[in-house]
Amino acid sequence: MASSHQASGIQAGRLAAPEIADNFGDLHPAYDAHEASVAADRCYFCYDAPCMTACPTSIDIPQFIREIQAGHPASAAKTILDQNILGGMCARVCPTAPLCEEACVREAAEGKPVEIGRLQRFATDLIMQRNEHPFSRTASTGKRVAVVGAGPAGLSAAHRLAMLGHDVVMYDAKSKAGGLNEFGIAAYKSTENFAAREVDWLLQIGGITVEYGKKLGTDLTLAALQGDFDAVFLSIGLAGVNSLRAEGEELDGVRDAGDFIEELRQAEDLTTLPVGRNVVVIGGGRTAVDAAVQSKLLGAENVTIAYRRDREAMGASRFEQDLPAS
Ligand SMILES: Cc1cc2nc3c(=O)[nH]c(=O)nc-3n(C[C@H](O)[C@H](O)[C@H](O)COP(=O)(O)OP(=O)(O)OC[C@H]3O[C@@H](n4cnc5c(N)ncnc54)[C@H](O)[C@@H]3O)c2cc1C
Ligand code: SF4
Repeated sequence: MASSHQASGIQAGRLAAPEIADNFGDLHPAYDAHEASVAADRCYFCYDAPCMTACPTSIDIPQFIREIQAGHPASAAKTILDQNILGGMCARVCPTAPLCEEACVREAAEGKPVEIGRLQRFATDLIMQRNEHPFSRTASTGKRVAVVGAGPAGLSAAHRLAMLGHDVVMYDAKSKAGGLNEFGIAAYKSTENFAAREVDWLLQIGGITVEYGKKLGTDLTLAALQGDFDAVFLSIGLAGVNSLRAEGEELDGVRDAGDFIEELRQAEDLTTLPVGRNVVVIGGGRTAVDAAVQSKLLGAENVTIAYRRDREAMGASRFEQDLPAS
């Protein structure tokens, strides 16, 4: 039975299971084919498209939108994935509002951009649902590459190396691949075990072996890897977080946001996760907003974000800043 929404202290089950399931549903529900076609029709297919310049992975946005508009979503997915093999997750989590969608000429003209992220998701979801993998390996080069760290950087490198005919062994300290896609991205941004499904899909290229529970510095040494492989790619992320360095940070009930989100992402049953009635989140970046939103979705009654500067200076986008209040 759910405990009261207003129960004091840190408690599990503040909300009933159906309400929690609803709260953690998809942030941006996927387009159906008709909606995607209508959205794609709004694109001007700009020459020197500003959206493409604004994309950190330089996806050919007008090209893939044209392919959707022409009724070829699988080709659109190939255009996206050629440039960014993790285009499916990026379609869910990339902060498009201050990037491609802010640069979109429709945004400047009408205050309503082409919904590039949702169109990207439409195309990439389709190809994954069909379990199609539109890439294959070239002839073997006989070269072996070690990739240390199976997060987005390592997975992308491994896929491209395998495509080019190299044999890849990935090592990760954890028991699952995906890095922060699996352990750090907020649960309401990556639903239905998408991160793990994307890894399985990516590995279909072949030629990649993943070894879990292997940590560089403990179970592996760089010197041994360099001796065993033709090349070594290090993609171990940024790991540790800054500590608050404030009095009381070791007290019960004070938590690191990354650990809180990881626990949430790996929980089998969200009703068992404890959360405070009154939660204060310190910081104004994306992780802070994710921690605040998820506290609220778990049933915290009051969530306050304490940030030392003003809203304009917050690392989280305006869309993300507004999420805790929605
Ligand atoms: C809480 C949080 C929320 C985020 N939300 C978003 C978002 O909404 N949108 C967005 O675009 N980006 C977001 N990001 C950023 C994004 O997750 C990172 O940019 C991305 O994961 C970086 O990929 P990476 O492969 O370099 O590192 P990581 O994802 O950190 O992967 C590193 C991998 O290396 C492994 N590893 C580490 N040390 C070792 C070792 N010594 N030996 C072996 N393996 C090791 C780790 O287990 C991990 O699998 C978020 C980040 C955080 C922390
Ligand atoms: S800027 Fe907007 S209209 Fe122009 S190509 Fe990009 S998405 Fe289409």
